[in-house]
Amino acid sequence: MEVCTTIADARKALEGAAGPIGAVLTMGALHEGHLTLVRRAREECGTVAASIYVNPTQFGDKNDLAAYPRGIQEDLHVLRDEGVDVVFIPTDAEMYPPGFDTWVEPGKVAEPLEGALRPGHFKGVCTVVLKLFITLRPDTSYFGQKDAQQVIVIRQMVEDLALGVEVIAVPTARDRDGLALSSRNAKLNFAERQAAPVLYRALRLAEELALRGQRDGDIVREAIQECIWGEELADIDYVSIADPKTLQELTTIDRPALASLAVRFGDTRLIDNVLLD
Ligand code: AMP
Repeated sequence: MEVCTTIADARKALEGAAGPIGAVLTMGALHEGHLTLVRRAREECGTVAASIYVNPTQFGDKNDLAAYPRGIQEDLHVLRDEGVDVVFIPTDAEMYPPGFDTWVEPGKVAEPLEGALRPGHFKGVCTVVLKLFITLRPDTSYFGQKDAQQVIVIRQMVEDLALGVEVIAVPTARDRDGLALSSRNAKLNFAERQAAPVLYRALRLAEELALRGQRDGDIVREAIQECIWGEELADIDYVSIADPKTLQELTTIDRPALASLAVRFGDTRLIDNVLLD
């Protein structure tokens, strides 16, 4: 496994690599969720390139950025075990050199949900993902369905800018109690970790209601909210039932719908979603 810290070295490492090239972009503190992406890439691609970069421009809150879990040595160990070929670990100076002044400004799909709660988040995400794509030049990229809006925003960018990268959404990996795996779970205290599976319980409830024929978006939204209100430690940022392509809220569930939510437990903000199909 070749570990590169500069764009030039990463390009050189991938020159003439066996195709297709699959990319898995991460912020590190790797867990089984990340590894489902890596394994899928390993199965489907001749070369697997992973990146580890905690991108400062997608964090609105400096404390959140400072507190983001990091563990580069362990991450490299895990990626080597999974048979990754190239790992790109750039510095901030490499990604945002002095005078950096060009940004990708995503449109409407970046406005609601995470975009509304975290202004500028997707501008940072798109800019760094584009730069990582330009560095690694993947044929295929693997993203987690857990960050559903991110997948939608990146697909839109890929299409609009004709990047020619296939974007594959990989199903959410969960803990045994249903909690979606996330690097942020490590920041939950014992009581918060006990409470957090309420998110998946609430989403399952929405699935069940939709399956039983409930088509009223408000009723499903309220059912999710009430389920989460049952947990004292949970503080809801949003609960959404939206069109999975446009992310417009649905009053009537007359098509497949994305049920998604963001909930805070103390200082830790978790997101999750399921597709009501
Ligand atoms: P992050 O390091 O949080 O930026 O995540 C890197 C990639 O892993 C993103 O595409 C995430 O959507 C994906 N990912 C994170 N958690 C999970 C999970 N539990 N299941 C599947 N993919 C995930």
